[in-house]
Amino acid sequence: MPELPEVEITCMGLQPILQKTIKNIVVRNTSLRWPIPSHLKKTLPNQKILAIKRRAKYILIETVSGHLMIHLGMSGRLELLKNDILPQKHDHVDIQFQDIKNILRYTDPRRFGSFHWIDGDINQHFLISKLGPEPLEKFFTDKYLFSKVQNKRTTIKNIIMDSHIVVGVGNIYASESLFKAKVLPTRLAKDVSLNECKKIVKFIKETLYKAIELGGSSLRDFYNVNGQSGYFQQTYAVYGRKGKPCRACKSIIVSKIIAQRSSFFCPKCQT
Ligand SMILES: [Zn+2]
Repeated sequence: MPELPEVEITCMGLQPILQKTIKNIVVRNTSLRWPIPSHLKKTLPNQKILAIKRRAKYILIETVSGHLMIHLGMSGRLELLKNDILPQKHDHVDIQFQDIKNILRYTDPRRFGSFHWIDGDINQHFLISKLGPEPLEKFFTDKYLFSKVQNKRTTIKNIIMDSHIVVGVGNIYASESLFKAKVLPTRLAKDVSLNECKKIVKFIKETLYKAIELGGSSLRDFYNVNGQSGYFQQTYAVYGRKGKPCRACKSIIVSKIIAQRSSFFCPKCQT
């Protein structure tokens, strides 16, 4: 599943369409998580792209009259391809441009992604308005997280994966950050100290930044012409390593289901 770093890398990969003007949108399959608005065929042509932004895992393509908001869902991918590459089964949307010979193609085998058009304030949109702060921005601090764990009888992992509290900390990054902060994912939030919140916040930022940096270095592969590039591979400390030795202490990594998600941790390094 595309996590925040992949979405950030996708936005970086879309820079070549800045200041380019849309010619047309071709929608082959409208049934994503929400139906793709039919008015886009009239709304988008002749609009110049002014900015590419990200909020949580939403990609926001800004024009003079509004924002095209795209979510990659479980398996979505946006790529800039040469315009003579024929669409395959899961290539649901193409955006064509007046001034470049590339198309922006949306591919999504599981069709959990979405396209929305926002002509007003993006922060008022129903998918955005209730979201917590961005993890990489200054507002997400130890004191902020500490204020959110007070009296909470849920696990710390559930807290940092709650998009109302902080956005974009998916299962992988929650497991990895808690390992580095030496805090068990099963710990009750109310028992987490300010000092531990400081470490958790620090390592959430660090693991996300590292993933973005790694993805940035593989950006060339990201929009290659054959469209076969997957998301970048990373080396994890605990995620997906059940039964393998901890890289720090050689204890066996344990996996446990928390809120329907597999959590991976070292029972010795984390308390
Ligand atoms: Zn360990």
